[in-house]
Amino acid sequence: MDRRSFLKNSALGGTAAAATGLAAPAFAQGNRTLTMVTSVPDGFAIFDDAAVKFIDLVNSMSGGELTIEKKAAGQLVGAFEVFDAVSSGQADMYHSADYYFGGSQHPGYYFFTAVPFGATGGEMISWYQHGGGKELHDELGQIFGLKSFIAGNTGHQPGGWFNKEINSAADLQGLKFRMPGLGGKALGLTGASVQNVPGGEIYQALASGAIDGAEWIGPFADERLGLQEVCDYYYTGGMHEPGSALTAAMNREVWETLTPSQQAIIETAAMATHHWSLSQSNANNGAALERLKAQGTKVLQFPDDVWDAFGKAASEALDENMDDELFARIRASQEASVASTYSWTSISDGEFQAQRARYNAANG
Ligand code: CA
Repeated sequence: MDRRSFLKNSALGGTAAAATGLAAPAFAQGNRTLTMVTSVPDGFAIFDDAAVKFIDLVNSMSGGELTIEKKAAGQLVGAFEVFDAVSSGQADMYHSADYYFGGSQHPGYYFFTAVPFGATGGEMISWYQHGGGKELHDELGQIFGLKSFIAGNTGHQPGGWFNKEINSAADLQGLKFRMPGLGGKALGLTGASVQNVPGGEIYQALASGAIDGAEWIGPFADERLGLQEVCDYYYTGGMHEPGSALTAAMNREVWETLTPSQQAIIETAAMATHHWSLSQSNANNGAALERLKAQGTKVLQFPDDVWDAFGKAASEALDENMDDELFARIRASQEASVASTYSWTSISDGEFQAQRARYNAANG
């Protein structure tokens, strides 16, 4: 029952409401609990924080009409099983990173988290809201019975943690490295041995020597995992996830049972969560990196020839999927939007930030 109906029925009085025979069932339909499965353990910084924020926003904006019960990775289904669980109706919603499903479901999903050499967080939301991204996400969702919205963004993700310095592209040969998505495919094309390990298992995989290195999210989230305890070298510039979006996806049949105002709440909560999450990353990563350095982490950047190898591999990894018509259309849409956005931000924000840094360095 929405609040307006409640007030109207209250004004009529209990007897009148009971006489219509509508009040009780309408109220019963008004409060729903939806089950959300996720791909990380409870309490994982940035990733789980975004799921919790989304849930809190939906609950508060709906005045309690919609309650979302979160089941972390492994509680109902495994980290990478959430897509099938929601598509099949086993769970109502998932909160995850859609690139986990690029290989198993449809390669178009890579673009709704991140592709190598792709969109920054700001470029992602510009494409999604104003460049056709949201409509393409929905087109993919129709294939699998999902209604999807991006709901979180990690910001730029570092190249990751290594147990040795990477001084040239040759140093990537044979390296056992954790990197998911199309970025992982690209890294594999440079000669590395790429594995996809769920977030909750990265620390152990590094500690046991099962992998030589790993990327996760960024200083704030990586510090929480303790990756500084098992690797010495941290490369902060990364090619694989320039601004990874997270997604809240609902079973489409469940979505269609929601009222228009409840649907608007879900979409608005997702949009707000993307904004909140991107700013959470950007606000916390600088201080977290300083703490990592204080613990002995060596912070480095890849040399140009490594970036050149990444760029070539990224193009090849993308090109491998171009026989899929929808993939090709999503790629063209995102690349055109990013190029257009950057044509402005590079000569406005980019110039300003460079000049501000130059002036402040010279003048204190
Ligand atoms: Ca990552």
